[in-house]
Amino acid sequence: MATASTSTKQLIVITGASSGIGEATAKVFVEQGHPVLMLARREDRLTAIVKSLTESFPDAPTPLASSVDVTDMDAIKAAILVAEEKYGPVSLLVNNAGCMLLGDVATQKADEWKRMLDVNVIGVLNGIQAVLSGMIERKEGTVINVSSIAGFKAFPNHAAYCGTKYAVHGITETIRQETSKHGLRHILVSPGVVSTELLSHTTSEDIKSGYESWKESMGHPLVPVDVANVILFAYQQPKHVCLREIVVGPTYQDA
Ligand code: NDP
Repeated sequence: MATASTSTKQLIVITGASSGIGEATAKVFVEQGHPVLMLARREDRLTAIVKSLTESFPDAPTPLASSVDVTDMDAIKAAILVAEEKYGPVSLLVNNAGCMLLGDVATQKADEWKRMLDVNVIGVLNGIQAVLSGMIERKEGTVINVSSIAGFKAFPNHAAYCGTKYAVHGITETIRQETSKHGLRHILVSPGVVSTELLSHTTSEDIKSGYESWKESMGHPLVPVDVANVILFAYQQPKHVCLREIVVGPTYQDA
């Protein structure tokens, strides 16, 4: 693109970058000198993160941020277009935005399932479609979908959440097979328990406190930068190497 900067490091787009794993991932890529586009809904958080990253890494390309709901395909596409005009084509999309509303299906409100399906599944598909045709045309590009250990095994009160993450596994492997001939990499990163805000949206206080006790029993859950470093490692492999699936959990997590 005519207006693209001359930065040798390529553009990285991260959804759910206003906290937790997404925020940490933005930091590790900015630290490496990449131009980064951060997407999430909370504009105040994004603005504060851009300020902090710009101050911490003054030599890196200035990070961009846009308040976008991942369920809105047009908004994702529009934000990526603006970033590509400044920094050139997207090299990596990290589909990380997600929510976890744990509950017992017998009593849980259906709008909680809908919200998880919309963000964790439709949001991932939206992100992929926003970058896929460009990547196919260029015959290069990487998509990393942040799934979960709950994407391949069951946990109590996780029925709908597990359903969304199992879906992410199916989507990732299918699109990987479909686009491998174009040189694209689709990678699943499935973390175990990470200390973030994720649980705070669950509405059942009993389930929340049970989860917190389980987490405490582990002694040392993962912290967001642990997962961010795994994402960076997968991306930095040579283009002919696709780490299809990475499971990373706390050493003391028993399930
Ligand atoms: P956080 O709650 O800290 O981060 C979630 C991020 O998703 C926030 O930036 C939030 O931003 C964003 N988000 C939520 N809904 C939307 C939306 N509709 N549109 C755009 N952005 C949205 O939790 P984590 O960092 O833990 O979660 C990141 C990912 O990691 C999730 O997919 C989660 O399922 C997965 N994961 C987490 C584990 C853990 O133990 N923490 C374990 C395994 C997987 P905002 O509210 O500003 O929109």
